Amino acid sequence: MNLLIMGLPGAGKGTQAAKIVEQFNIAHISTGDMFRAAIGNETGLGLLAKSFMDAGNLVPDDVTNGIVKERLAQEDIKTKGFLLDGYPRTIDQAHALDQNLADLGIALDGVINISIDPAKLQERLSGRIIHKVTGETFHKVFNPPAETYNEEDYYQREDDKPESVARRLEVNIAQGQPIIDHYRTQNLVHDIDGDQDIDLVFADIEKVLSGLK
Ligand code: ADP
Ligand code: AMP
Repeated sequence: MNLLIMGLPGAGKGTQAAKIVEQFNIAHISTGDMFRAAIGNETGLGLLAKSFMDAGNLVPDDVTNGIVKERLAQEDIKTKGFLLDGYPRTIDQAHALDQNLADLGIALDGVINISIDPAKLQERLSGRIIHKVTGETFHKVFNPPAETYNEEDYYQREDDKPESVARRLEVNIAQGQPIIDHYRTQNLVHDIDGDQDIDLVFADIEKVLSGLK
């Protein structure tokens, strides 16, 4: 299965993506994770991406399209399929992806669109914590790792600070709609209510994906 997962920052894409790729055994391609890994490894890409990310802006299209193109060309993609998470984020990226997939002879099977009231996102993002070793995402209140846990084992994302969040939401709301419209005209979009418990969101996604298999 070849899928996209879309939604505003904090809608639950990464949380659901982890469950989907485990259940359906497909490759998880998260551009945000790729940029964060590059930052952690202090590569040239990381250095470039960090300045945009910290300000809540998008990394330039040519850079982002380049890393996705490279990843999609790898061997496992044709055999396993993939879930793209956080890409495309501009209409130009969507067009680049169309071309890239056509060149590779790959068709998209569906777009999972997690909808949520933007007013709820601030509390989702301000409580987001990530395990330092596994990279797994949790939430201090909505999805704590355990009843008691060591806060030092977790970190909060630089761009989850209120200054960056406001800008990220503004950018993503403005850029997101044309992308969804683009895939709607191809009848690929499946709308999922993201404003329910994590397991209920996943149950809805599973229903959709079982129909696509
Ligand atoms: P995204 O990848 O779309 O930015 P995440 O999956 O990282 O979003 O989720 C953002 C935060 O909200 C995380 O702390 C996550 O644990 C929490 N979260 C995700 N889905 C839900 C949900 N359905 N209800 C409550 N909290 C959620
Ligand atoms: P995410 O982890 O998906 O929330 O992405 C975190 C940040 O990485 C975004 O706010 C952007 O700065 C950058 N980023 C991730 N994906 C993209 C993309 N497709 N295009 C441009 N920037 C991106």
